[in-house]
Amino acid sequence: KKNLIEVVNLKKYFNVGKDMVLKAVDDVSFNIKEGETLGLVGESGCGKTTCGRTILGIYNATEGHVYFDGQDVHAMNRSEKLKFKKNAQIIFQDPYASLDPRMTISEIIAEGMDVHFKLTHKEREKRINELLEIVGLNQEHASRFPHELSGGQRQRVGIARALAVEPKFIVCDEPISALDVSIQAQIVNLLVKLQKEMGLTYLFISHDLSMVKHISDRVGVMYLGSIVELAPSFNLYEKPLHPYTKALISAIPIPDPKIEDERNRIKLEGEVPSPINPPEGCKFYKRCARAMDKCRNSRPELKEIEKDHFVACHLY
Ligand code: SF4
Repeated sequence: KKNLIEVVNLKKYFNVGKDMVLKAVDDVSFNIKEGETLGLVGESGCGKTTCGRTILGIYNATEGHVYFDGQDVHAMNRSEKLKFKKNAQIIFQDPYASLDPRMTISEIIAEGMDVHFKLTHKEREKRINELLEIVGLNQEHASRFPHELSGGQRQRVGIARALAVEPKFIVCDEPISALDVSIQAQIVNLLVKLQKEMGLTYLFISHDLSMVKHISDRVGVMYLGSIVELAPSFNLYEKPLHPYTKALISAIPIPDPKIEDERNRIKLEGEVPSPINPPEGCKFYKRCARAMDKCRNSRPELKEIEKDHFVACHLY
């Protein structure tokens, strides 16, 4: 399959004070194939959300390129940009904050539709009802306001709004982390089902490694603005290579508490350092149990160690 998204040496820096640069996305490259789900994981503040938004053109890139279907997202003219906005959507973490409280559900769903399609009143109504049904809501919800719905229902509206413009690509930015644990699985299952039915391509951003495992074809692990490991989901979880990935995976709780956890837990020492003026060498240096002299000054590049398995670490 061909690449739908290509991210090439992408950087997104923010000036946050005199001589202080926050390197939220610091030279990131990857691609996403058509119909694929790429999981992007890491602790909060690692730059995954900024990366998703820079890919969508919500933020301008400081350097580097994002190609959608071969076209440079940050160099599009107005009509190309409009088309891109239709094709590339986002589902936000907090469905409440992302829905306008003064708009009804049908107005929210139709907003993008009205920009991109010319529908008659009847066609529009029909489409709204169709979308409500697709996401597991019904006609009765159309005239309601966001505050009248539960968190899970609101996220279903967020999904319907994204689907309304018939996108090819969706950035799912922590779409379940604000929801009750009891409904998280429902929303994930819905996203998986929609992907299959509509051939969607996902960038799935999450801090929850165990959740991403089941829905991603490949997973990228971000640390302080950089991707430190990128591999097919199975390989990453069964055979993580980077010391940071190993620590994250060893910290995933085992679902059945009766089974004794015999894995070697690797404790992560210290806090995530600040992404402002990050260290010269390996960004994980201060927390890495296997750090060597070389790691202090030389930044390891992301290299393909086995087929499709990339890691940025001097151990390999
Ligand atoms: Fe640890 Fe060095 Fe590898 Fe960085 S490059 S993760 S410090 S061993």
